[in-house]
Amino acid sequence: MDKFYKQIEEAIKTGKSARIIESGEGAYLTIGGKKKLNFCSSHYLGLSVDPRLAKAASDAARKYGIGTGYRTLAGNHVLHLELEDHLARFKHAEAAVIFTGGYMANCAAIQTIIGKEDIVISDELNHASIIDAIRLSQVKNKFIYKHLDMVDLEEKLKQVVILSNSEGSQDSSAAPQNDNRKPLILIVTDGVFSMDGDLAPLPDIVRLARQYGALTMVDDAHGEGVLGKGGRGIVDHYGIHGQIDIEVGTLSKAFSTMGGFITGRKELITYYKQKARQYLFSNALTIPDTAALIEGVKILEESDELVKKLWDNTKYIKEKFADLGFDIGHSKSPITPVMIPDEDKAREFSAKLFELDVFATPIVFPMVPKGKARIRVIPSASHSKKDLEFGIGAFKKVAKELSLLR
Ligand SMILES: *Cc1c(COP(=O)(O)O)cnc(C)c1O
Repeated sequence: MDKFYKQIEEAIKTGKSARIIESGEGAYLTIGGKKKLNFCSSHYLGLSVDPRLAKAASDAARKYGIGTGYRTLAGNHVLHLELEDHLARFKHAEAAVIFTGGYMANCAAIQTIIGKEDIVISDELNHASIIDAIRLSQVKNKFIYKHLDMVDLEEKLKQVVILSNSEGSQDSSAAPQNDNRKPLILIVTDGVFSMDGDLAPLPDIVRLARQYGALTMVDDAHGEGVLGKGGRGIVDHYGIHGQIDIEVGTLSKAFSTMGGFITGRKELITYYKQKARQYLFSNALTIPDTAALIEGVKILEESDELVKKLWDNTKYIKEKFADLGFDIGHSKSPITPVMIPDEDKAREFSAKLFELDVFATPIVFPMVPKGKARIRVIPSASHSKKDLEFGIGAFKKVAKELSLLR
């Protein structure tokens, strides 16, 4: 045992502890007693500190208390059903099921329907929770296609079709219980990729899926509250409602609370509610979380004001950064990578920003490949133009100091 703890001690040596936040997560954060511009948060719409959500949470807590239970036993609260109704309507889907995290929702979405003998085809840059969900399904045949590369996806589909014609499933643990069915083929992708802010070409994926008889799944964690009409997400952005089989979302990014959800056809959602292990063997969302989320969805249903402000701010900083001469990649979302390829420089850059009261963390290997380090800036609807100017000014100053701009 001593040896085990020695190894653990060795392994944690290089780990860095995260900053400690002493305030709410709005346009500014208090860290070490000082106000810092919050320039890298995923609270896209500022709902984390919106008084309407706080009021909904506290009203509900007063009325119902805090905790719920297992939904299949004694925790299926009317607020849970109300939130699911709102989410389904918001996403123009037939039905929705909520979980306690986007990670959980991804695990449920894949593990519940995919068995050992099925086939999963996944974008190489998909989120860790999708990778883990695929592992959890124990599927033997997984194919990874090159990031956004539809030629490579089709290549994989061709291989897969040959494979699936040669194999009938013997796997009784595979979800839709049906002996000797043909293997399911699932294509899975992030909607917005969180490091570069680029978008999956969903219409092309749908076309290929139809051609080759595959199911489609998109993880819209960074699309909800951001893309599409009033923040309805990437499917709305492309106008392809009803064409993606499984849509997964998180309630922790733009919705600024916690939880995840799946939307899709009614029978599929009922199936998840009856079979998903993450639904059956884990507690449901708390009352305050659920009430805050209902309020958050209502706010977006009623007005696109926050989403518009987010995009105004996004356009503003992208223009300013580009004008200054920064390489900001080719993002199609508010995620704005300011490329500082050298890792040490990126770390130094972030530290200097912090001294100027701007909080923007460096993203380095293994989150991105070596040589692709960056500071990931994300504006939000809670920033004023003045806040943005302040942040951009600090970037300019640090870049000069480090001789990164001419
Ligand atoms: C953040 C994120 C998740 C995880 O969501 P949580 O609600 O934090 O568990 C899943 N997928 C993607 C693409 C994400 O960005």
